[in-house]
Amino acid sequence: MPWKRPTHGQKKAGKSHSPTPKKSTKIYGHKWRKARAAYLMKHPLCECEDCRKHGRHELATVVDHIIPHKGDMRLFWDSSNWQSMAKACHDRKTAKYDGAFGRPVKPKQDDKEIF
Ligand SMILES: [Zn+2]
Repeated sequence: MPWKRPTHGQKKAGKSHSPTPKKSTKIYGHKWRKARAAYLMKHPLCECEDCRKHGRHELATVVDHIIPHKGDMRLFWDSSNWQSMAKACHDRKTAKYDGAFGRPVKPKQDDKEIF
């Protein structure tokens, strides 16, 4: 499948193929992916509150905005507003803030050492 195809050719008439714009994920483009990757290289471990509190070292795969940017480009690109997060931690945070799964987020008690 060709990645790009010229649009100046014939258009298929018939099916009205209305271009459905992807929801505004445009800001999460190439530039962000690069910035994010660079940040994760420098901050490879999860920096979330939980991990810091419990001294956990989860491998971070997500760069989270500490203060939700809500489309504010200044916040979005402000690296002091970024934190590395493990996917699980990020999901937990999102669930906590959005109540996405409609269940209370309980702190886990599984970090006790058996010694
Ligand atoms: Zn974490």
